[in-house]
Amino acid sequence: MSAKHEISALKELVILSSRMLYAPNEITEVPIEFSQGGHVSVRHPEGDRFLVAAYIRGDGRTFLNDLTPDDIITVDLDGRSLEPEKKPVGEVVIHSSIYKARSDVQSVIHVHPFWSTTLSIAGRQILPVGSSQGHYFPDGVPLFDTGFGWLVIEEHGERLVQALGAGKAAVHKGHGIVVAGESVHETVVTTVALEMLAKQQAYASLLGSAEPYSRKDMENYYRQTGSKMWGSSARARWLWYQRRLKEKGLA
Ligand SMILES: [Zn+2]
Repeated sequence: MSAKHEISALKELVILSSRMLYAPNEITEVPIEFSQGGHVSVRHPEGDRFLVAAYIRGDGRTFLNDLTPDDIITVDLDGRSLEPEKKPVGEVVIHSSIYKARSDVQSVIHVHPFWSTTLSIAGRQILPVGSSQGHYFPDGVPLFDTGFGWLVIEEHGERLVQALGAGKAAVHKGHGIVVAGESVHETVVTTVALEMLAKQQAYASLLGSAEPYSRKDMENYYRQTGSKMWGSSARARWLWYQRRLKEKGLA
């Protein structure tokens, strides 16, 4: 694939993945946001830059549902647009700080899902309370707090990277979630898994207790059954979401 085609294909992945996470489209198992905000990025093949939505607010569109290839811009690891006259989304530091700190990360997602955010407001960490999604987060999901507001300055990026560590996700108290992974397919599926788990935990906590499984429980299960703790099913799930987009005339 030529470099130009490769970039076009990555832009299409960002556009489709964003559309999957747009709540009113009802593509995934849970609505992923309660505001119009949120963004999906992928690392550029050059490695020292990434692709993310440009700042388009003001014309009635959203960063998730109505992106076109022209809206996806290249940004360096300091969060600076490499395309004149276009600036990145306001919370670009989320993406730049993770790509800079984690060479294994190829895609980052930031969204504001209702249940994950609500648990964080209550000071509750999201834990592996169910078997369907718990194995994505065997040690729970770190919760970090920078006070009121979004993640927009360098210090916020540093706090995020610290909270995330080598993990897949972190929750910013009162605001939203950040997911990092080895592919855009993985980050989309992890984002959905996190919000489903948070919703189950929140409901279970209202009805009774929501005791998490331990990492040891999970490792024992996977050893006994010979299955993998984190398999290669993300792409299959992503393709299923893509099929749902097509059925609705959205892809
Ligand atoms: Zn945000």
